[in-house]
Amino acid sequence: MSEFDYDLFVIGGGSGGVRAARMAAQYGAKVVVAEEYLVGGTCVVRGCIPKKLFVYASHFSEEAKIAGHFGWDVGKPSFSWPKLLANKDKEIDRLNKIYIRNLEAAGAEIIQDRAELRGTNEIYLVDQDRTVTAAKILIATGATPFVPHNIPGAAFAVTSNEAFHLEDLPKRVVVVGGGYIAVEFAGIFHGLGLETCLLYRGPQILRGFDDDLRNGLAEAMINKGVDVRTEANVGEIKKMGDEYMVCMHDGREIMTDLVMYATGRVPNTTGLGLENAGVDLDGAGAIKVDQYSRTNIENIHAVGDVTNRVNLTPVAIREGAAFAETEFNNNPVSVDHSDIASAVFSQPELGTVGLTEDQAREQYGEITVFKSVFRPMKLTLTDIDEKMMMKLIVDKASDRVLGCHIMGPDAGEMVQVVGIAIKMNATKADFDRTIALHPSAAEELVTMR
Ligand code: NDP
Repeated sequence: MSEFDYDLFVIGGGSGGVRAARMAAQYGAKVVVAEEYLVGGTCVVRGCIPKKLFVYASHFSEEAKIAGHFGWDVGKPSFSWPKLLANKDKEIDRLNKIYIRNLEAAGAEIIQDRAELRGTNEIYLVDQDRTVTAAKILIATGATPFVPHNIPGAAFAVTSNEAFHLEDLPKRVVVVGGGYIAVEFAGIFHGLGLETCLLYRGPQILRGFDDDLRNGLAEAMINKGVDVRTEANVGEIKKMGDEYMVCMHDGREIMTDLVMYATGRVPNTTGLGLENAGVDLDGAGAIKVDQYSRTNIENIHAVGDVTNRVNLTPVAIREGAAFAETEFNNNPVSVDHSDIASAVFSQPELGTVGLTEDQAREQYGEITVFKSVFRPMKLTLTDIDEKMMMKLIVDKASDRVLGCHIMGPDAGEMVQVVGIAIKMNATKADFDRTIALHPSAAEELVTMR
């Protein structure tokens, strides 16, 4: 008999925590997951999944226009926000139940409560007002939206959390930020018919992405009608009756019905009692871990966004799986965080894997850049002047493809597959000897000379 109540206590029922819990339970451990909100976590409840459903919803306004050019008369499309919300909530509820069922089927217990550390093996359950013990603890509490509250009136703004539950869809919105969430939501709001303004503090949106993608997306968003403003710093937000006035540093003012901040996310470590167990944090408040997701305390591990490594759902899942494999199957596995494909579900969509042109030049010196810009076939019958872009970055010395960056329909789908080739160290010659699939957009990837 173990001296502890559980072999593994997982704090947080999101992607990383659930995967670790299921696998550890399947390996025979006595596992419990504590979740204070909904099992499924950010990705399922108020992130990737509902976001992508909203992206689909917002595409239909443009699809209706395109349909006309293909001979369809779809009349004047009308949109019901309450219907979208209700259907989205139904789907999230379905997924939440699947997550719960999967955990239970694996033999893990679920506790609906907030859990805080009281010591290296003690966990306090807040609502239940009791303490349990565990041999190992996994912290998988994710991250939460960051709002710069030093800006007067920032409290009037919503974040992505609330954006998934807005009672009414207003006429105008200002989105602050220039990262994944800001550009994705700007596209969603614009597609759903809102007058949309995106305010980004720097010279170009999506810092860290390949410059051609950044410039291409900003231009395409502006062409679609999004008011993208760069070097735009918010000084204050004033409430004026039912409206808000966003006052910029340069003296300009923007009137709007809704302000959304998408200015990054911070690890969920506040109030977790980590100091009671002596767990070290970094300067950004993230839990410090090694390549096996071990903290400085032997029996305490952390995975996912709370560790602020690569903040993507599939990465948290891999980290959770590697943890379970290492700790409960006696098979040490670490996660390779290089060359991870990701998509930005902006409009147009972006897909990216590997090094940007600038990073490749810096790390490899001599590189060759192959770039193709063309009109997607679906738009050729329309008057929409939007371009698709594909870019391969190749190391001159080895011919290895170091990066692939795509802007346009299904960019994410394509880049996921290119990611396999890059992981296998494919060369440009390998791409070239692959015969094209015609007619497709992806064929450009194997025909660039
Ligand atoms: P990001 O880190 O992507 O972007 C944050 C943005 O806010 C940046 O443009 C940043 O500017 C800006 N910013 C930060 N602080 C301030 C401030 N005080 N005032 C004004 N602007 C500020 O964060 P997101 O919130 O968009 O997303 C969080 C993470 O979630 C992402 O990094 C990603 O890992 C993940 N995610 C992934 C998605 C996907 O895979 N499709 C979708 C959504 C989220 P600057 O660049 O100048 O620092």
